[in-house]
Amino acid sequence: MDQIPYIKPEKLREFTNNRRQDFTLLFKKLKAKKPKNLDDVIHELHNEAFDQFDCLTCANCCSTISPVITEKDAERMAKRLKMKAVDFISQYLRIDEDKDYVFKQTPCPFLMADNYCMVYEDRPKACREYPHTDRKRMYQILNLTHKNCEVCPVVFCITDELAKNSIFKV
Ligand code: SF4
Ligand code: SF4
Repeated sequence: MDQIPYIKPEKLREFTNNRRQDFTLLFKKLKAKKPKNLDDVIHELHNEAFDQFDCLTCANCCSTISPVITEKDAERMAKRLKMKAVDFISQYLRIDEDKDYVFKQTPCPFLMADNYCMVYEDRPKACREYPHTDRKRMYQILNLTHKNCEVCPVVFCITDELAKNSIFKV
């Protein structure tokens, strides 16, 4: 995999849009074929990518989208901030169209100017798992992966590699 550059969200949206036909076809084929080695190939690209790319130079995810926040996440963050969970929820969270808690605002209220997370050790589970490219059964989250191409430079580059990979050639 080539060196991954930092790409701003607006550029990622443009690049993803320019590749919409390729990427849509790729994900459609992967969903239909469910190649046995899909997880292995994506996980290898994920490891290769994050070995060379430092999230502290990016923070696109924390700046532009909210994780889903469970009640346990909210309780943990509230405890860290020495707040009651109910007050934490009323100050920082709202319920979205899927009836999940999300942050009221983006960028995330806990994202600091140097891109560090103020609640890092107690951050939501979804933050720990983002961008989900090391998950098992990747074929189940291909729509989400396509969507994340617009946010995460690593996901965009992994998808670009997959589209070029002879095993999955579209
Ligand atoms: S809680 Fe931390 S890791 Fe999660 S979105 Fe906010 S700043 Fe990012
Ligand atoms: S997970 Fe992706 S979008 Fe988030 S900081 Fe890392 S490279 Fe950027």
